[in-house]
Amino acid sequence: MGGIVQSYVFIALGVMQLVAIGVGLLIVRPARPLFWYIVLAGQGVALLGNITWYLIPLIQQTQPGFPSISDGMFLGSYGFSALGLVILIRSRGGGQDRSDFLDAAIITLGLVAISWVYVILPNVEATGLDLFGRVVSLAYPLSDIVLLALAVRLGVSAGAGTPAHWFVILWIASQLAADAVYAVLVLDNHFAFGSVNFAGWMLQLVFLGSAALHPSMARLASPVTAAPPAAFRPRLVLLCGASLIPLTLIIVDRLDAQTDDTPVLVGFSVALFILVMFRMAGLMGRIVDQRAALQREVAVRETAEARLRAQTADLARSNGELEQFAYVASHDLQEPLRMVGSYVGLLKRRYQGKLDSDAHEFIEYAVDGVTRMQGLINDLLTYSRTGRESQPTEPSDAAVAFDRAVANLQAAIEASGARVSRGTLPRVAVGALQLTQLFQNLVGNAIKFCPNGAPEVQVGAELRGGEWLFHVRDNGIGIEPQYRERIFQIFQRLHKRGEFPGTGIGLAICKKIVEGGGGRIWVESEPGKGSTFFFAFPQERAMRLAA
Ligand code: ADP
Repeated sequence: MGGIVQSYVFIALGVMQLVAIGVGLLIVRPARPLFWYIVLAGQGVALLGNITWYLIPLIQQTQPGFPSISDGMFLGSYGFSALGLVILIRSRGGGQDRSDFLDAAIITLGLVAISWVYVILPNVEATGLDLFGRVVSLAYPLSDIVLLALAVRLGVSAGAGTPAHWFVILWIASQLAADAVYAVLVLDNHFAFGSVNFAGWMLQLVFLGSAALHPSMARLASPVTAAPPAAFRPRLVLLCGASLIPLTLIIVDRLDAQTDDTPVLVGFSVALFILVMFRMAGLMGRIVDQRAALQREVAVRETAEARLRAQTADLARSNGELEQFAYVASHDLQEPLRMVGSYVGLLKRRYQGKLDSDAHEFIEYAVDGVTRMQGLINDLLTYSRTGRESQPTEPSDAAVAFDRAVANLQAAIEASGARVSRGTLPRVAVGALQLTQLFQNLVGNAIKFCPNGAPEVQVGAELRGGEWLFHVRDNGIGIEPQYRERIFQIFQRLHKRGEFPGTGIGLAICKKIVEGGGGRIWVESEPGKGSTFFFAFPQERAMRLAA
């Protein structure tokens, strides 16, 4: 009676599984549904087989015969499953990776060794079956082997496994396990309805149904691109285990004096050994290829680095030459200009009242031009001299440099009524003279560009992110955002000569000094309210100099 209930449950599960596949196909609508159509057909055939083999004899109170029409259906459904798996593996892009294929072969061969000893050989030796019966009974384990190979192949295929992917593997695995238990039970004459193998057969229905209903089934047959990330270790353990199976079986066989399967098992061992060798050869080949690729990459990088070094050296040389040129030109231009200046001055004095007013006006222009040119040349000379002094051998005290700059600016400070203050300032890796010049230019500008009211200039420094960050803050006219880069270029000014005196060299010199000390300089400002000039020096340079 229990058998009948169980058979109803079994058949009902089979029907539900077919419905699940149908519903999955309708709702999830996989892009490549062929696998599911084939599996649906196979499971339909299997359900018919179950009805004829399982339910009808139970109702008629007879034992199923062997082989029967149901066996034909069961074997047919295996064929459908195998075909479905082949299509699935191919559409996922399996079969291209030799190492995946070899891994699958090694694991399958190890498991086949078990099947061979415990299922196939006893079947071959079984008595009481005619030839046809024996062929059919052998067809089961052999089909199982094919399914096993395909399931393992699917399992080791590249790509992260989705739930649907693993449900399909569990489907085959539970079917194979149940078949194996069934075969052993039949051979030992222990089989009865309700044996443990039925649980496996029921589970497989649940697993396939779950695979069909899980949303990831949509992508099940899609090509896999990503290689599994670092999943090599568990695979290695699996391969080791599989390749040791025949040896283990030999030991078990030796302990059991009744059988002698050693020759067959030795054959399995040898076959596995050869497969493992192929696998190792593949790995070695890959390592050699990767090493060669790495070496090529290193060579390319070294060439690029060498080129970069050469370019840097070229740049440094042409920069040096340019500075040299600016220095020589400005230095040598001074002399002829001085001559022009003094003769124009002589002209002006000697011919006072002897020339007409136009001539005097022209002479005025000439004197003015010469004076301006002298100013520019002097600035250029100062600029090209900046950084020429030898590298500092010890860090300079910014507080001392600042105080000196303020002393130099005393006249301007008194004339404008400026208030100049500072916080504690550190020691930095820049020459003392240059540091004084830097503060002098920035504080001088802060005073100069504050025409209305008394200038307030505040200077300070703080350690931030490994840098000494200085600021020079004023309450002057400020700078429009679009000019904040340009003002650091040589001779770039934002005002006419009449408005504010100057040539536009001060900030260019500041930039040169700061960058020479490995630092950077920039300005932040609110036009009309004031500007803050920032410059930052790496702290580590100063520490290295101090050490
Ligand atoms: P110069 O002072 O001789 O004009 P700089 O190179 O020192 O040359 O400055 C370039 C320009 O940057 C100045 O002409 C001015 O327009 C602007 N500038 C510099 N410092 C300030 C400041 N503190 N406030 C407002 N504008 C400034």
